[in-house]
Amino acid sequence: MAQPFEGPLSTEYIGTPLDLFDDEKAWVVKWPRSMEHHHTYGMLTPFFKGLTEGKLLATKCVNPKCPHKSTWLPPRADCPDCYARTEWVQVPSEGKIYAYTMLDYTGIGIEMKAPYWQIDVEIKGVDTIFKGFLLRGKPVTGLPVKAMFRTKNPTHTILDICWVPKED
Ligand SMILES: [Zn+2]
Repeated sequence: MAQPFEGPLSTEYIGTPLDLFDDEKAWVVKWPRSMEHHHTYGMLTPFFKGLTEGKLLATKCVNPKCPHKSTWLPPRADCPDCYARTEWVQVPSEGKIYAYTMLDYTGIGIEMKAPYWQIDVEIKGVDTIFKGFLLRGKPVTGLPVKAMFRTKNPTHTILDICWVPKED
């Protein structure tokens, strides 16, 4: 049988009264919430660390029995084709625009002003297309671009890399 509550019989309100958006039928209160989210990059940590060092790191499948032995960017800790552990390789920090689109709304975690040009970059030696954004200029399919890295005051997110036209 549960014991009766024997704690303090009085307490005090320590919160902040909520702002009220008065509506005759139903009250709406402004109730801000916040939380701290700890997210691990796990085995992909070298990729994000590389960005802060001005390096573009991909992963490569080196399993001799793998049918594709692809180089992945964004990196994959394990090869999707043969499930073997991949190895880190540095790839060129330049490429060509494969496709592009203008984004009017950013995704969660992309703390940037919109609109901006999102570009897909084709990189020599990489078997996948790498998504990023064009810092300045107007994208054209096939336009050579080079990466810029946020090595000073890095965000420790994917926003530590962006692209600019190569002739800049
Ligand atoms: Zn493989």
